[in-house]
Amino acid sequence: MCKEGFTTRPNLRVNTFISEMVAQFRQSAQQKASSSSSEQQVSKPGEVPCDVCTGTKLKALKSCLVCLVSYCETHLEPHLTMSGLKRHQLIDPVENLEGRMCTKHDKPLELFCKTDQTCVCILCTVLDHKMHDVVPLKEEYEGKKAELGKKEAEIQQMIQKRRLKIQEIKHSVDLSEEDADREIAEGVQVFTSLKESVERGLKELINTIKEKQKTTEKQAEAFIKELEQEISELMKRSTEAVTPDTLSNASEVLVSAETPESCRCVFWPEPKSQPQ
Ligand SMILES: [Zn+2]
Ligand SMILES: [Zn+2]
Ligand SMILES: [Zn+2]
Ligand SMILES: [Zn+2]
Repeated sequence: MCKEGFTTRPNLRVNTFISEMVAQFRQSAQQKASSSSSEQQVSKPGEVPCDVCTGTKLKALKSCLVCLVSYCETHLEPHLTMSGLKRHQLIDPVENLEGRMCTKHDKPLELFCKTDQTCVCILCTVLDHKMHDVVPLKEEYEGKKAELGKKEAEIQQMIQKRRLKIQEIKHSVDLSEEDADREIAEGVQVFTSLKESVERGLKELINTIKEKQKTTEKQAEAFIKELEQEISELMKRSTEAVTPDTLSNASEVLVSAETPESCRCVFWPEPKSQPQ
């Protein structure tokens, strides 16, 4: 066990050293060839710049966890084509790659211990994190990224659901407004015709009462006329009565004296408004 652990350590060092050298060599070679390329994006504040570019630093496309260097598209090329560099773990560009070195073993923190939820180097896995569930950092990163992507999609779906709900509510409010307008119009129509009918009824009632009053007045006039005629007749008779020749006919006087009693005016109704 002891021997095995010892032989693997220097091996890794050499490996990293060689690859770094190769990378550096390739980078400097590529740099001269493509530093004038204007197609690539110049890194803006907040973005990770390429560590290899001199002068205008282009936006880094990937960071290498083995080289601890961030590369632009041009400078990343060797990592994609050269078999030795292809094994290097690339992640989305990050700043402070030095902070990704294991302080204990001075190796890149290219692995992730799921048991302790922490980044570890290759030596950590055989020493402090033996038997722990260790995965390449990229794998964990991709997993977390996928998880976040799923969560993001879920959130977007929830947002979409709520937006649809808002649309539904707005639509139902519109419909309700239309209903309200229609109901108001119907109500106005009903009450207008009701009002007209009531007004018509009142007018008819007033007319009927007025007609009745006119009839009453006409009847009264006729009675009064009749009574006045009777009065004048009676007065004439009264004048005649005082003469001696009529006084002799007593029976005639008695009969004619009853005449006023037969007058129709006795049937004249009492005014209704008077208390009985
Ligand atoms: Zn570059
Ligand atoms: Zn590398
Ligand atoms: Zn370590
Ligand atoms: Zn662990």
